[in-house]
Amino acid sequence: MYDCIVVGGGIVGTSTAYHLAREDVDTLLVDRKDDGRATSAGAGVVSPATVAHDYPDSWFELGADAARYYDALDARLREEAGVETGYGHCDLLTVAIDDDELAPFEAKVEEIRDRQDRLGTPAEGTLEELSPSEATDACPALGDVRRAFRYTDAARLDGQAFTDALYRAATTHGLQVERADAEEIRTDAGGVTGVVVRGDDGTTVYETENVVIAGGAWSSAFASQLGVDVPVDPQRGQIAHLSVDADTANWPIVTAFRDHYIVPQLDGRLIVGATRETESGFDARLTAAGVREVLDEALRVAPGVDDATLADLRVGLRPLSADGVPVLGGVPDVEGAYLATGHGPTGLTIGPYSGKIVAEAIRGVSPSSDLAPFSIERFD
Ligand SMILES: Cc1cc2nc3c(=O)[nH]c(=O)nc-3n(C[C@H](O)[C@H](O)[C@H](O)COP(=O)(O)OP(=O)(O)OC[C@H]3O[C@@H](n4cnc5c(N)ncnc54)[C@H](O)[C@@H]3O)c2cc1C
Repeated sequence: MYDCIVVGGGIVGTSTAYHLAREDVDTLLVDRKDDGRATSAGAGVVSPATVAHDYPDSWFELGADAARYYDALDARLREEAGVETGYGHCDLLTVAIDDDELAPFEAKVEEIRDRQDRLGTPAEGTLEELSPSEATDACPALGDVRRAFRYTDAARLDGQAFTDALYRAATTHGLQVERADAEEIRTDAGGVTGVVVRGDDGTTVYETENVVIAGGAWSSAFASQLGVDVPVDPQRGQIAHLSVDADTANWPIVTAFRDHYIVPQLDGRLIVGATRETESGFDARLTAAGVREVLDEALRVAPGVDDATLADLRVGLRPLSADGVPVLGGVPDVEGAYLATGHGPTGLTIGPYSGKIVAEAIRGVSPSSDLAPFSIERFD
């Protein structure tokens, strides 16, 4: 009998399992490691304050809490897991290159300033306009920059490395793990009683009174068993890793206005992407058109990388909820069933913190951030 079973070992499920295990909650993590797991493809931009989406204020408040939590969590994981996490602070540069980006540039600066004034979050970062030459000094690969602003409180992350660190640390706290398929959530008299798991050695029914569905884009598979609509669909993202002969350690993350970005790593790699293919279904393939879109956009913004080595291509399925906002907390009318999914394009930013606050709810501790705006009940 486990106190809790977590279904899904991406960044969200692994963080939930970690935060349970370190508080001595007897936990089993069941993960199928599907092709298209989003965490393994994520670019690693952590900058909720500059996100351009039309999210509600509650999302930006959660994002600010999540970004603030990263430093403490990162320090703890380095100690507990003894591995590199791939997390570090950096600047984020937003540039307008072509005419059609000039008006959106103005609008975005105004929107961020307005939000900072209104919500007072995050207090840490400053926003400043740079001249075109200051922008190319910061990132020499950039093309003909027309306008640029710098945000000083962003971070970059290697999502897979961070998840591996959460996993290692969690196992030192006693987390049990199965690479297997969680087939069914068993319930009785309005409460969770167990999970049916199929692995290489056959099918096992594990007893538990708590289960967390953190199955990323696959989470809605449990909807009918739990008697609730889980409006989370896959959104395919294709992304490329370029290797350049330059010291990119101090380059900023660069974003422009076509939903793409360039994320420099410490080892001379630049992660460029990504496509946002909402009608993709569970088709985790790289496509000719997707890869072309990613490379075209990278070279439009940063023609200086045209001679880079194409080091890797990845594809992931973002778990996109109907309103783009995560789905966190208990399932109505099923005691012990929780959801931690629907993080869409910002799961590396928010996912580790989501794991913390969902774990708090399971332990009966008042969550560090309000879960109410993220409840599944908002879709009723
Ligand atoms: C190209 C790309 C770029 C991105 N860039 C960023 C970024 O810069 N910043 C940012 O914040 N976010 C980014 N994201 C989003 C982020 O990667 C995701 O939101 C996040 O990784 C989702 O994590 P997850 O744990 O919910 O899902 P996943 O990582 O997809 O993990 C879900 C896991 O659950 C398992 N699973 C599902 N069902 C079952 C079952 N029944 N039994 C057992 N296991 C099961 C799957 O096999 C999988 O391993 C990006 C995503 C993509 C695709």
